[in-house]
Amino acid sequence: MTTTNNNDNQPIEKIRNFINGEYRDPIDLKYLDNYNPSIGKVYSLVPDSNKKDIDLAVEAAKKAFPTWSRTTVKERSAVLTRIANCLEKRLEEFVIAESRDQGKPQQLARGLDIPRCVDNFRFFGGLILYEKENAYMQDTPIRAINYTHKRPVGVCGLISPWNLPLYLLTWKIAPAIAVGNTCVCKPSEITPYTAYLLGQVLNEAGVPPGVVNIVFGNGPNAGSALVEHKDVPLISFTGGTVTGERIAKMAPLKKMSLELGGKNPAVIFEDCNWEETLSTSVRSSFNNQGEICLCNSRIYVQQSIYDRFVKEFVERSKKWIVGDPTCPNTNMGALVSKEHLAKIEYYVELARQEGGKIELGGQRSHVTWGDQYKDGYFYQPTIITGLANNSRVIMEEIFGPVVTITPFKDEAEAVELANSVQYGLSSSVWTQDITRAHRIAEQIQSGIVWINCWMIRDLRTPFGGQKQSGIGREGGEYSIDFYTEIKNNTIRF
Ligand code: NAD
Repeated sequence: MTTTNNNDNQPIEKIRNFINGEYRDPIDLKYLDNYNPSIGKVYSLVPDSNKKDIDLAVEAAKKAFPTWSRTTVKERSAVLTRIANCLEKRLEEFVIAESRDQGKPQQLARGLDIPRCVDNFRFFGGLILYEKENAYMQDTPIRAINYTHKRPVGVCGLISPWNLPLYLLTWKIAPAIAVGNTCVCKPSEITPYTAYLLGQVLNEAGVPPGVVNIVFGNGPNAGSALVEHKDVPLISFTGGTVTGERIAKMAPLKKMSLELGGKNPAVIFEDCNWEETLSTSVRSSFNNQGEICLCNSRIYVQQSIYDRFVKEFVERSKKWIVGDPTCPNTNMGALVSKEHLAKIEYYVELARQEGGKIELGGQRSHVTWGDQYKDGYFYQPTIITGLANNSRVIMEEIFGPVVTITPFKDEAEAVELANSVQYGLSSSVWTQDITRAHRIAEQIQSGIVWINCWMIRDLRTPFGGQKQSGIGREGGEYSIDFYTEIKNNTIRF
């Protein structure tokens, strides 16, 4: 299904919803433009679905639930492994699609996004084979055995954002269906394409119709309809804090996991491993255009090494290549949308007004890598110093290639600065004094603290944020618990 209404008269593909194992148009036949951010042009149309489409998808998921929830663990594990294998076979196709849809370099999608999608299915397909349940012998006041039992919840509503589109969606789908749930997914309307392709993979892997349904559309229409649906008892949401709050209010009694915004600190002491700290700091600031919820955006550096750090960090960041996302040495591609580019420009201008010094960047990139990219949303890696810690640029989430650097005197001040925002998703601490590392990690308010490293992820570990960065934990056993109801049965004897 194609139409021809983009600027170049190129055929534009229509993305379709995936419901009950089949691709279908949205009921009202309404669509939204889907942009390729590197060229700033519409290249496909995404369904602007509404409650009617969500109702249809929930109906399919409800119908599939009784059978899927009773398949054996071994069967479900095999299905997840087949999904992983099919996805892995088509890895390059997904890499190209993710980069075109999101703006990120292909090399990042090839090294991070898509392999991790494969891992999500493989990991949860394996984990369920080794699940344990508990039993409790009781001898007073009467003799009884209690045993606990994990049962799937039902139809899960899975809502994901645009920054790691397929990775964050599969992080939800894999555990949800592994334990016997069915689901309705609502991917970000800004980056729908790889979720659209996923339907094909699910069919190739033999996932029964209705187990996974994917409905595209915006938050207020499709997203809200899913959150409020009476037959959807569980919502797993990843996205912004304001949206998360709204969703929590819309469905206060549903089982809910909220993975929200961040403003992550890196705390760097004078005794850090200099080279490791410097090179990782560049990556952790600008990887994926700074559009990873785990990127650090506030760097705090001990006073004694502050000047040297700023100078060398700026020098290193100049080598971070912004360019053609298809080129293998590109480090940073385009920002995800025109609106997001405008948000970054707004915050950099605000930094100027708040008295900040732009040490690097602070403007759109001069596109020298091909005429077709001249309208792409490229922005330079941006480093800002001299801001007061209570400035809005330091307090608020920007979610782009913008970092601030601030000096601190001692441990107490470092902890105070690190904890001074409303968020608490992740953080990193850089010191070779292991006792100090533990002491600081203990005090930092964040769901994850990386010590002398960044973004090392073991899928068995809990993932989630404190404060305004979210509620709940997913990952390994935490996901299994979230996507199940734990029952206790008691037998008197
Ligand atoms: P967003 O909150 O605007 O949208 C996220 C998803 O929610 C999208 O699919 C959107 O359509 C949907 N949505 C929007 N309004 C809705 C509503 N009223 N009801 C139901 N669904 C609705 O977030 P975004 O701009 O796509 O993503 C960026 C944000 O995500 C950043 O704040 C970032 O920190 C956060 N994020 C957090 C994590 C984490 O693990 N904590 C990971 C990635 C991104």
